[in-house]
Amino acid sequence: MATLLAAGLSAALETSQAYQTLADERMTMLGVLGSTADAVIAMNQGGLVLLANGAVRQMLGLAPDTVEGRPLLEVVDYGPLRELFVKGTPGISELPLPDGRIAQASMVQVVTPFGEPVGLAVVLRDITLLKNLEQMKNDFVNTVSHDLKSPITVIAGLADLLRMAGPTNPGFEKQCQDIRDTAQHMADLVTDLLDIGKIEAGLDAAREPMDLVPVAEEALRIVRPNAQRKTIELRADLPAEAIVTAAPIRLKQALVNLIDNGVKYTPSGGKVTVSAAFSAGGDGAGTVTIRVSDTGLGIPARDLPHVFDKFYRVKSTATRDIAGTGLGLAITRTIVESVGGRIRVESVGGTGTTFTVELPVARA
Ligand code: ADP
Repeated sequence: MATLLAAGLSAALETSQAYQTLADERMTMLGVLGSTADAVIAMNQGGLVLLANGAVRQMLGLAPDTVEGRPLLEVVDYGPLRELFVKGTPGISELPLPDGRIAQASMVQVVTPFGEPVGLAVVLRDITLLKNLEQMKNDFVNTVSHDLKSPITVIAGLADLLRMAGPTNPGFEKQCQDIRDTAQHMADLVTDLLDIGKIEAGLDAAREPMDLVPVAEEALRIVRPNAQRKTIELRADLPAEAIVTAAPIRLKQALVNLIDNGVKYTPSGGKVTVSAAFSAGGDGAGTVTIRVSDTGLGIPARDLPHVFDKFYRVKSTATRDIAGTGLGLAITRTIVESVGGRIRVESVGGTGTTFTVELPVARA
């Protein structure tokens, strides 16, 4: 009897210990979730709110205890957040908050350790300060670039005058040419910076439904002399027509940047190919995919995530003597994203690079 009793008691003790451990773990998890400044809200597959932490109160104005266990679309009336859950696409996006602040929203699919789907969760982080800083930086750069424009033009003009009026000796002429080249580099930089500012501020050339094909052909025509100089083969594989909504002048600028980079970063004898193809989407919408690929130097894996950043240039012995501002790809990405498109890059060091641009097809 005593042995049986002891066995029973010890089993009960073990169960209660396991229960205590579980309760402790749950308390720790709730403690961590409750103290974080990021708002976390999760919905199960049936659409019920599984979890909402304390930060949802101040970020979204929701009381966590009144929303848990209830249908999310019933208790959340804030449109952008509802949209995020309705779409349910995992990834990172920016979400304006009801009080005007801006949050970075990370949507994830929640699965058990055994891989069974549980639902969707969104983590919201307040990035208002970062956005304000970025805006201040952009405003500063725009003002400075604007003010630099006239003095640079004056320097270039004076260098020309000096060369014409000065002594005819090769050393002097070379120095004047150096001043002119440097002024030209600065002028390019300023133009690029002003372009980015304008496109980011949405103050740019009007967008209209346009055929991408003649624009791509024009871009190829502009870059062709550079390609011929380096004996690089420029190939085009374009459809008869591809209608997208964009500002033709900007789209041409984006394509020239990509094709010209292909030529710049490919050694003589290489090849740069521009192709465009149409693919139909599910809801009647379609996508035009443009690829610019080259057989050039390639971009090392560690640099790939940064090549679209402003002023980023790959540092290597192979690229050291190639002139550039590090702004071309930043402009290209701004142009592509301003018309709802996406751009990505793939590269295998030493064997070439492919830039892929996806643009939504203009609806009839
Ligand atoms: P840059 O004026 O320096 O060409 P970009 O913004 O156009 O500026 O490109 C940023 C950097 O990305 C370049 O400095 C170069 O190192 C790298 N890059 C861009 N395109 C290519 C390419 N097709 N092949 C290899 N490297 C490239």
